[in-house]
Amino acid sequence: MQCHNHEIQAVATCKNCYKAICRDCLSLVNGICACKNSCEQAVTDLEEYLSLSKQSIKKISNTYKNGAIFNFICGLVFFIIGIAPVITGSNYGVTIFAVLGLAFFYGSYASYKGGKRLETNEKAQRRTGV
Ligand SMILES: [Zn+2]
Ligand SMILES: [Zn+2]
Repeated sequence: MQCHNHEIQAVATCKNCYKAICRDCLSLVNGICACKNSCEQAVTDLEEYLSLSKQSIKKISNTYKNGAIFNFICGLVFFIIGIAPVITGSNYGVTIFAVLGLAFFYGSYASYKGGKRLETNEKAQRRTGV
Protein backbone atom coordinates (compact mmCIF):
# COMPACT_ATOMS: atom_id res chain seq x y z
CA MET A 1 0.00 0.00 0.00
CA GLN A 2 1.27 3.45 -0.93
CA CYS A 3 0.76 6.75 0.86
CA HIS A 4 -1.91 8.86 -0.80
CA ASN A 5 0.36 11.92 -0.62
CA HIS A 6 3.76 10.43 -1.40
CA GLU A 7 5.08 7.62 -3.55
CA ILE A 8 6.37 5.69 -0.58
CA GLN A 9 5.20 2.77 1.51
CA ALA A 10 2.28 3.55 3.82
CA VAL A 11 2.50 2.49 7.47
CA ALA A 12 -1.11 3.02 8.55
CA THR A 13 -4.65 3.86 7.49
CA CYS A 14 -6.41 7.01 8.63
CA LYS A 15 -9.31 6.26 10.94
CA ASN A 16 -11.32 9.13 9.47
CA CYS A 17 -10.87 9.00 5.67
CA TYR A 18 -9.43 5.44 5.43
CA LYS A 19 -6.61 6.58 3.15
CA ALA A 20 -3.18 4.98 3.41
CA ILE A 21 -0.65 7.22 5.11
CA CYS A 22 3.14 7.09 5.42
CA ARG A 23 5.27 7.86 8.46
CA ASP A 24 5.52 11.54 7.48
CA CYS A 25 1.77 11.96 7.03
CA LEU A 26 0.84 10.00 10.14
CA SER A 27 -0.43 11.77 13.21
CA LEU A 28 -1.36 9.86 16.35
CA VAL A 29 -4.43 11.18 18.16
CA ASN A 30 -4.76 9.30 21.47
CA GLY A 31 -3.10 6.34 19.79
CA ILE A 32 -5.38 6.49 16.75
CA CYS A 33 -3.94 6.97 13.28
CA ALA A 34 -4.99 10.10 11.38
CA CYS A 35 -3.76 12.20 8.46
CA LYS A 36 -1.52 14.98 9.66
CA ASN A 37 -3.08 18.47 9.38
CA SER A 38 -6.36 17.29 7.88
CA CYS A 39 -8.05 14.50 9.85
CA GLU A 40 -6.75 15.07 13.37
CA GLN A 41 -9.72 17.15 14.47
CA ALA A 42 -12.21 14.77 12.88
CA VAL A 43 -10.67 11.78 14.67
CA THR A 44 -10.71 13.68 17.99
CA ASP A 45 -14.38 14.48 17.47
CA LEU A 46 -15.14 10.89 16.53
CA GLU A 47 -13.44 9.58 19.67
CA GLU A 48 -15.25 12.10 21.83
CA TYR A 49 -18.57 11.14 20.30
CA LEU A 50 -17.90 7.42 20.77
CA SER A 51 -16.89 7.75 24.41
CA LEU A 52 -19.90 9.98 25.08
CA SER A 53 -22.34 7.52 23.57
CA LYS A 54 -20.68 4.70 25.51
CA GLN A 55 -21.13 6.64 28.73
CA SER A 56 -24.78 7.39 28.06
CA ILE A 57 -25.49 3.75 27.22
CA LYS A 58 -23.84 2.73 30.48
CA LYS A 59 -25.98 5.26 32.34
CA ILE A 60 -29.22 4.07 30.75
CA SER A 61 -28.45 0.42 31.36
CA ASN A 62 -27.63 1.23 34.99
CA THR A 63 -31.04 2.90 35.28
CA TYR A 64 -32.59 -0.27 33.94
CA LYS A 65 -30.66 -2.36 36.44
CA ASN A 66 -31.64 -0.14 39.37
CA GLY A 67 -35.24 -0.38 38.19
CA ALA A 68 -34.92 -4.15 38.10
CA ILE A 69 -33.61 -4.24 41.69
CA PHE A 70 -36.29 -1.82 42.92
CA ASN A 71 -39.08 -3.80 41.27
CA PHE A 72 -37.68 -7.05 42.65
CA ILE A 73 -37.64 -5.74 46.22
CA CYS A 74 -41.18 -4.34 45.89
CA GLY A 75 -42.29 -7.63 44.39
CA LEU A 76 -40.78 -9.54 47.28
CA VAL A 77 -42.44 -7.32 49.91
CA PHE A 78 -45.86 -7.51 48.24
CA PHE A 79 -45.55 -11.22 47.70
CA ILE A 80 -44.67 -11.90 51.34
CA ILE A 81 -47.57 -9.69 52.51
CA GLY A 82 -49.76 -11.50 50.00
CA ILE A 83 -48.97 -15.01 51.19
CA ALA A 84 -48.55 -14.11 54.86
CA PRO A 85 -52.11 -15.24 55.73
CA VAL A 86 -51.29 -18.66 54.29
CA ILE A 87 -48.09 -18.93 56.31
CA THR A 88 -49.73 -17.75 59.54
CA GLY A 89 -52.60 -20.14 58.94
CA SER A 90 -55.43 -17.59 58.93
CA ASN A 91 -58.41 -18.15 56.68
CA TYR A 92 -57.94 -15.26 54.26
CA GLY A 93 -55.91 -17.26 51.79
CA VAL A 94 -53.65 -15.59 49.25
CA THR A 95 -54.54 -11.92 48.92
CA ILE A 96 -54.36 -9.51 46.00
CA PHE A 97 -50.92 -8.45 47.25
CA ALA A 98 -49.44 -11.69 46.00
CA VAL A 99 -50.68 -10.85 42.50
CA LEU A 100 -49.18 -7.35 42.81
CA GLY A 101 -45.94 -8.97 43.89
CA LEU A 102 -45.90 -11.12 40.78
CA ALA A 103 -46.55 -8.00 38.65
CA PHE A 104 -43.50 -6.34 40.21
CA PHE A 105 -41.43 -9.45 39.57
CA TYR A 106 -42.42 -9.20 35.93
CA GLY A 107 -41.46 -5.50 35.89
CA SER A 108 -38.12 -6.41 37.38
CA TYR A 109 -37.56 -9.04 34.71
CA ALA A 110 -38.56 -6.60 31.94
CA SER A 111 -36.15 -3.93 33.23
CA TYR A 112 -33.36 -6.46 33.47
CA LYS A 113 -34.03 -7.62 29.92
CA GLY A 114 -34.12 -4.02 28.67
CA GLY A 115 -30.73 -3.24 30.20
CA LYS A 116 -29.22 -6.43 28.85
CA ARG A 117 -30.54 -5.73 25.34
CA LEU A 118 -28.93 -2.27 25.40
CA GLU A 119 -25.60 -3.71 26.42
CA THR A 120 -25.76 -6.41 23.76
CA ASN A 121 -26.54 -3.81 21.08
CA GLU A 122 -23.65 -1.70 22.24
CA LYS A 123 -21.24 -4.64 22.13
CA ALA A 124 -22.42 -5.64 18.66
CA GLN A 125 -21.83 -2.07 17.49
CA ARG A 126 -18.33 -2.06 18.89
CA ARG A 127 -17.56 -5.32 17.05
CA THR A 128 -18.67 -3.95 13.68
CA GLY A 129 -16.92 -0.67 14.43
CA VAL A 130 -19.98 1.53 13.89
ZN1 LIG B 1 -7.47 11.10 6.86
ZN1 LIG C 1 2.88 10.51 3.05
